Order: sequence, then C-alpha cells, then structure tokens
Amino acid sequence: MYGMHQFPDQVSRLSDLPTGYDLLHHPWFSKGTAFTEEERDLLNLRGLLPPIVSTIEGQTQRAINNIRKKSTNLEKYIFLVTLQERNETLFYRLLMDHLEELMPIIYTPTVGQACSEYLHIFRRPMGLQLSKRDKGRFKQILQNWPRKDVRVIVVTDGERILGLGDLGLGGIGIPVGKMALYTALAGIHPGHNLPIIIDVGTNNPRLLNEPLYLGLKEERIRGQEYDDLIDEFVWAVQEVYPKALIQFEDFANLNAFRLLEAYEDRISCFNDDIQGTASVAVAGVFAALKETRTRLADHRILFLGAGEAATGIGHLIVDALKEDGMPEPEAKTHCWFVDSKGLVVTGREGIGGHKAFFAHTGEFTADLLTAIRLLKPTILIGASGQGGSFTREVIEAMAAINDRPVIFALSNPTSHAECTAEQAYGWSGGRAIFASGSPFDPVTIDGKTRYPGQGNNAYIFPAVGLAAVVTAASRIPNETFLIAAHALSELVTDQERSEGRLYPTLTRIREVSFHIALAVTRFLFRKRLARVKEPADPESWLRTFIYEPRYPDYTRLPR
Ligand code: NAD
Repeated sequence: MYGMHQFPDQVSRLSDLPTGYDLLHHPWFSKGTAFTEEERDLLNLRGLLPPIVSTIEGQTQRAINNIRKKSTNLEKYIFLVTLQERNETLFYRLLMDHLEELMPIIYTPTVGQACSEYLHIFRRPMGLQLSKRDKGRFKQILQNWPRKDVRVIVVTDGERILGLGDLGLGGIGIPVGKMALYTALAGIHPGHNLPIIIDVGTNNPRLLNEPLYLGLKEERIRGQEYDDLIDEFVWAVQEVYPKALIQFEDFANLNAFRLLEAYEDRISCFNDDIQGTASVAVAGVFAALKETRTRLADHRILFLGAGEAATGIGHLIVDALKEDGMPEPEAKTHCWFVDSKGLVVTGREGIGGHKAFFAHTGEFTADLLTAIRLLKPTILIGASGQGGSFTREVIEAMAAINDRPVIFALSNPTSHAECTAEQAYGWSGGRAIFASGSPFDPVTIDGKTRYPGQGNNAYIFPAVGLAAVVTAASRIPNETFLIAAHALSELVTDQERSEGRLYPTLTRIREVSFHIALAVTRFLFRKRLARVKEPADPESWLRTFIYEPRYPDYTRLPR
C-alpha cells in the first residue's frame, strides 16, 4: 500500500487490529468520527460514535475552528498535544494543513512556555523518561517504548531549553515538538520517532522548591557520573535501535560540545543547536553572496557571542572555505568573535575549549563597535542572546565600511534579537542584507519592500533526519550540514531573491525539506556512510518514505 518502504505500525491482517473501544481510543489506528458505516459494523464500533460519518477534511476543519477559539497559545498547545495522543493521523493532517499557524504553537515560542509550565499542564506523560535512577537499566527501559522501528531520537537533559535555561523534566516538550516537525516537515513516519528526556536533576530553584514538580528534586550530576550515564544511554540505543539517529537537543554549553565531540565519529548523531543552526545561517550567507556577487573568501565575519550557535557557524564557514581550497589556518582567520568579555584574542583570559580554535593574534577590545572599526567585517552575526546589542552606531559603522553590509541577528526570542529588521534596514539606508532567528514583518523603505529572512533550523534538521533514516547512516559528519546549506540556498527562487529573501518562504518548507534531504541522501551514499543499498533512482526511492496522514480503509484488510 505504501510502495517500497515498509512503514511501521502497519497492520497486515484484520485480526491484528484492536476493535471497539480499544480501537476508537488507539492513537495510531483511530479514525474517530471518520470510521465508515462498514467499519463500524466490522469493528464493533456501533453506538460508540455519533451517527454521522465525518471525513478527515471535516475533522480538520472542526479542530482548527476549536483551536482558533482558544484564548491563549498555551491552551492551543494543550489541545494539539491531546489530539496527538488521541488521533495521530488527524494531528498530522491538521499540522501539515496549517503549518504556518501551528508551528509557533507546537514549537518555539509556545513550546517554551509549555516546558516552563509542564508540571501544571501535565495530562499524560510524553516521550520516554529516563532518569539517573535508571542507571544500569537503560537498555531494558528503551525496549518499553511501544514502537519498535525507531529511527530518530531527539534527546535532551533539559538544561538549556531555548533561551529559558534549566527547565528540568519540563524540557521533554522540546524533543516532542521537534519530533512532530520531523514528521510534519520532512514526512518521517511518526512510528520512527522517539523523544527522550534524561533527568539528571535540576539546578532550577523554582523547580526544586515546587511540590508538584515531577522530576528529580536533586542537583544536576556533573563530571564522570554524568558522562557515564550519557555513555550508557548512547550505547544502549545502539543495541536496541541500531538504525537510530540521535539528535542531541538543548544541552548546556558545558556538555553540548563535549558530547558531540565524543560521539560524532562513532555513531549516527548531531547537535541541532550547534550544527543545524550553523547550516541554516551559512545557507543565509551563501544566499547573501549571490546578492553581493562576491565569494566567501572575500569576507570577514564578526560574531557577537561565542557559544553553541556562533562557533558552530564559525566551524561551518571554515569548512566552506576549505571546500573552496583555502587551508584551515587561513580559513579560520576569516572568523572573529566577541563574547561577553570582549574580542576573543590569544592570551586573553577565559578562552578555553571551543573558543580557543578561533582565538587570533590581535588588539583586544571589550567593545563591539571598536572591534568593528578595528576588523572592518563585511558580515556581522549576532548569537549572543543580548537584545538590542546591534545599536544604531553598530549598524551605521557596518554600513560605512560596506556597500551591502550583511547583518544577521539570530538571537531568540524576538526580544533578544540583536536588532530588528526595521533597524537593520533603516539605519543602513536600506542597504543591509538581513536575516534573523525570530520572524520579522516586511519593511518598506523608499517604496521598496524587503522581506527579512528567518534562519529557522526547521529548514535543516527534519531534512537531515529524513536522509539519515532512509540511508540508515552510520555517521553524520559536519560536512553534511554544508551540503544541506548549499541545497537550502539553491532552493531560493529568483522571485524570492528579488524580494530580498535569503530563504524560501515557509509555505514551501515541505518541498524544500524533501530536496535538502535528497541532496544529503546522495552525499551519504557518496561518502559510503549509508548502510542500505544505493537505489538507481534516489529521488523516487526517497518519495516512498514520505508519510502522508491518511486513514486506511480497514475493510480491505485480509481477515
Ligand atoms: P550560548 O549560551 O551557547 O552562547 C551565548 C554566547 O553569547 C556566549 O558565548 C556568551 O559569552 C555570549 N554573550 C553573552 N552576553 C554577551 C554580551 N553582552 N556580549 C557579547 N557576547 C555575549 O547560546 P547559543 O546556543 O549559542 O544561542 C545564542 C543565541 O542564538 C540564543 O539567543 C538563541 O536563541 C539563538 N539561536 C538562534 C538560532 C536560529 O536562529 N536558528 C539557532 C540557535 C540559537
């Protein structure tokens, strides 16, 4: 029924399907009011449903009407999560049909609020919850997940949820939301998804003092004890779900880089905060190069912030320059960083770990504006979480040095953005090429409307996930994110470019995800990282994996 790929949770005989009340309440198999007359007779559903048979279109309409009547976004979120637990097919139909409206609910920003208030809005447990108390039993517990063909795992320890910090067990909302996007945007069958939280304690005093908190009320474990726990998790996954990709999500800085380094060459994994962000930002830079008719080697990039996002982008820029033939020592001199203490230069205090790679010899300054005057960057990228730090003077300085200054204000949420779209365009006399992490409305200057680009990671991670799923990739090297960045930037149409857009419009995101996934799939085969046989026609093969939320006709199943 689904072409070449065997989707999970497919029942091949009627006798494998629950009946009556159990079927009606089964989230994977239920059709709710859309069970047909024949099915109602066959599957003992008579009397359990209203007499009129609905269509999935009618159900979707009813659901979206319901959502629009809710007065807060958190109530909309609760409605959606409850629907997902009740009728998965309808949940995905609704999400796919109303992506632009529902993405900000199911994912950032509303999901952040849901994580913060998890202990109050809790209905039913979501995803798989491991805790440090389960040490030694991860393998056994992973097998308790009801779906057996797991191919993508999003895992967090809840320590750095979006810009909101340590939300402990409430962090599970993020893997759940991201997994929904893997399915809604890239078409990965929901049966392949497994969202996980590992509860290692919390250092959030609000949660530690909250009687209703559902997680461990203990300080977070650190050091060897922490590393051993994560190591047990990683290898337990390899045994129980050997084809699964692990996406590390919202780990704090002190663990995110170490975990990625420890596992990226050994298993199929990536970190979206570091690598997904890098890919989408570099795609924006590639699109800006087309606009300025320049080469990457012509540019000097100054970052405000030197954390997961900024250094991840820096590393991918270095990879892109190396791809063009530049040696690494020279490539990294194209990237400079200002962190909370000032310009990252050799000999300065507090430059260890992931920053050391980018420490160059140069004059120290604590001030961004002075750094701009000293270094004369052509591209300025903010990933500092410091709202308003690209002041009028900063933008004007960039515009004084450059004909078309490239300015990305990536910090989320909107209030943390280094500047707004209006400020970037306005203060540069309409010359800036601008992208941001949060969405901004179009800006009209001198009669010309500019559409700011939103560097949303959702363009990248579902597509990379789909490619990893179909190829059963053994590893996801950093280069994968360069391939994805090239693919994304090439998918911007001439029409979109003429409107000043650096990214395809969000309305095209499913088609865009497919083409990025195709480019990554081809790359993984080329690199011999795929663990399945290469198909003659990767494009049509890839299409057979795409999940479409449709109800099956149960009367056609053999008895
Ligand atoms: P992080 O905590 O790893 O890094 C933050 C960095 O900012 C640190 O290096 C810190 O030293 C620096 N910083 C703090 N205050 C500063 C100041 N006053 N001046 C200069 N630097 C300062 O966080 P992260 O994961 O790198 O995320 C940073 C921001 O990027 C967040 O706001 C996040 O929302 C955003 N982000 C956006 C996207 C996207 O647009 N697609 C993706 C990921 C992260």
